[in-house]
Amino acid sequence: MLEDKNPQRTTLENLGEFGLIKHLTQNFKLNHDSSVLGIGDDAAVLDFKGKKTIITTDMLVEGIHFDLSYMPLKHLGYKSVIVNLSDIYAMNANATQITVSIAVSNRFPLEALEEFYEGVAMACKMYNVDLVGGDTTSSTTGMLISITAIGIAEENEIVPRSGSKPNDLLVVSGDLGGAYLGLQVLEREKEVFKVNPNNQPDLEPYSYIVERQLKPEARKDIVALLQKLDVKPTAMIDISDGLSSEILHLCEQSSTGCNLFEDKIPLDPTVMSTSEEFKMDVTTIALSGGEDYELLFTIDQSDFPKIKGNPNLTVIGHITDKGEGAHLITRGDTKIPVSAQGWNSFNP
Ligand code: ADP
Ligand code: MG
Repeated sequence: MLEDKNPQRTTLENLGEFGLIKHLTQNFKLNHDSSVLGIGDDAAVLDFKGKKTIITTDMLVEGIHFDLSYMPLKHLGYKSVIVNLSDIYAMNANATQITVSIAVSNRFPLEALEEFYEGVAMACKMYNVDLVGGDTTSSTTGMLISITAIGIAEENEIVPRSGSKPNDLLVVSGDLGGAYLGLQVLEREKEVFKVNPNNQPDLEPYSYIVERQLKPEARKDIVALLQKLDVKPTAMIDISDGLSSEILHLCEQSSTGCNLFEDKIPLDPTVMSTSEEFKMDVTTIALSGGEDYELLFTIDQSDFPKIKGNPNLTVIGHITDKGEGAHLITRGDTKIPVSAQGWNSFNP
């Protein structure tokens, strides 16, 4: 829908599984000393020389997590890597390797997989991670993608969800709600396209939020920024499912409560105007729309001067005792409990 499909179609059968893997992965080079052995053997070998290894996996299923009618495969490859790297950065670690496993129907042409791997390669380059393995198989029910990301950190650098304490400040990077609204725009254009395939959508006014949906970034830069500012968060989580559910995870793991201030939630102007257009409440979108891949973390109050005024970081609230619960303080100064309405793949 968004771009011309590659007219060339080479069937996968002609290549065979090993030929296919070789073809798709031949241009990936290993850049990290910790990548001792990569693709081509029974398993990869990594050596972190005494540092801690951080590992995370995510699975993406066609029709549940992505829709190929408006998700170009190159973007899908990129985003699939990003969502995993985001989890590594959320531990305050550095991502170093990934493995990529895919299941696709035989009807998929080689060119489609090449496009997907172009996106994977772009993410590997951008975030300096090595592709060290994966698995390739066929599927009769759509495309499946499973990526594992591996990272490294000194033991004392790791930031789990469980470390926040009362009076810590609650901080978020970037702005929220864009990815969800970008999805709404794409869904709307898909419906228009179904009725009139000649209608080329004008997505220009929505470019920021559509990009947030189709080509998100992981906040490696925030991890570096915090290091530079000499701030170690007390707890951290990435925002994949929506601010409210992530706040609740963080509070639950830390055995704390929190006060979150509605008027502090960072919003891009496009998010505000588009939510009006869709007649949706912008706070609900920021709280419940997922896939922003920003970092949510808590810091000790004494670190506030170090982050104050930084355009990438916004203090949105503070941590309280567990007994006080988790609350949103609205613009009208009413206090309402934060409820988890994060995106849930079992109840979409
Ligand atoms: P095995 O039979 O031991 O599972 P494979 O033939 O599946 O081996 O894989 C051979 C090599 O190619 C391994 O190093 C594996 O990690 C890598 N590999 C397989 N599929 C992919 C893929 N989709 N992307 C990247 N590497 C892959
Ligand atoms: Mg295999």
